[in-house]
Amino acid sequence: MLKDMPLDKLSRPLRDLRVSVTDRCNFRCPYCMPAEIYGERYEFLPRNDLLTFEEITRIVKLSTQLGVKKVRLTGGEPLVRQDVVELVSMIASLDGIEDFAMTTNAYLLSGMAESLKKAGLQRITVSLDSIDDEVFKKMNGRGFGTAKVIDGIAAAKEAGLDPIKINAVVQKGINDNTLVELASWCRDNGYTPRFIEYMDVGTLNDWKLDEVLPASEIVKIIEGEFSVTPIESSYRGEVAKRYRYKDGKGEFGVISSVTQPFCGDCTRLRLSPEGQIVTCLFADGGTDLRGPMRSNIPDEELLNIMSGTWSNREDRYSEIRTSMTSPRKKVEMYHIGG
Ligand code: SAM
Ligand code: SF4
Ligand code: SF4
Repeated sequence: MLKDMPLDKLSRPLRDLRVSVTDRCNFRCPYCMPAEIYGERYEFLPRNDLLTFEEITRIVKLSTQLGVKKVRLTGGEPLVRQDVVELVSMIASLDGIEDFAMTTNAYLLSGMAESLKKAGLQRITVSLDSIDDEVFKKMNGRGFGTAKVIDGIAAAKEAGLDPIKINAVVQKGINDNTLVELASWCRDNGYTPRFIEYMDVGTLNDWKLDEVLPASEIVKIIEGEFSVTPIESSYRGEVAKRYRYKDGKGEFGVISSVTQPFCGDCTRLRLSPEGQIVTCLFADGGTDLRGPMRSNIPDEELLNIMSGTWSNREDRYSEIRTSMTSPRKKVEMYHIGG
């Protein structure tokens, strides 16, 4: 049964699905889950509210009938979801997925990289905001040094979970003085860093525009140290603007979601841990699939809900944020996984 591939109201196809497998995390990055708010007493979702692996796999399978070719597991921190390797193997056994990746903070990765690869995960993106221990300790909100993360990345390389991308959120005055060091470390180890403009996701990180270092400035900082040249975008929906080092030692990317938004090419759907599909990173809610699934809805009807949600989509928050006059409700980043 192959469904007609839906286009949304701005003629965008559905290509990518980001699956947030948990709302929990072992870090407290202040730009995502500030420790003052997500403390000991914070109530995360109870286990029964989380989609089961069977439910997640069912949605992923149906999404491939609507055009999804890329699947990324995220969170919260995906590696803290119990038995996540089993979920990886269930998704990896589905037809139609060309690219299967995970975004992780890598704190638990060194002991899991090999089993993730064996279970069918293809590649990994690690969030590492700075290679400077002191800066990193502040940015993960838990005082953890870089050693375990670096071991995790090395284990992923050893296991063949490549190409490995390194995501770094750039905050002016916090880690912008360590970008060259991170770029240099990535060059030496064969990783591709992607510097991400600090975004106004959610409502709890007290985001201010003057903490955003524009992507153009980030590129200037890297160009100040290395000779680089831009690379043409290779496919519709590619979020990073890429640059190649002229000496042939790899590339880096910048993600300019604030200063140069790319909504026109946004082909991403998100699945929250409790089973809502969310059509934009800045949405104020989603469409529930867990309720219908637990009421034994047949596949065809579930597919209709998913297809209808995509067809009605008209989100382009990043393009219109500066013209919005009042603050609005938004889902939190740790909930839908970036
Ligand atoms: N815990 C995993 C991790 O950190 O890789 C996966 C989930 S995390 C929400 C996914 C990505 O979102 C990370 O690369 C993180 O740096 C990014 N992120 C979180 N809050 C952000 C913000 N306010 N602006 C830009 N990126 C953000
Ligand atoms: Fe956790 Fe990732 Fe958010 Fe940091 S960015 S708090 S690692 S979910
Ligand atoms: Fe996509 Fe929404 Fe981000 Fe625009 S703001 S790129 S529509 S997720």
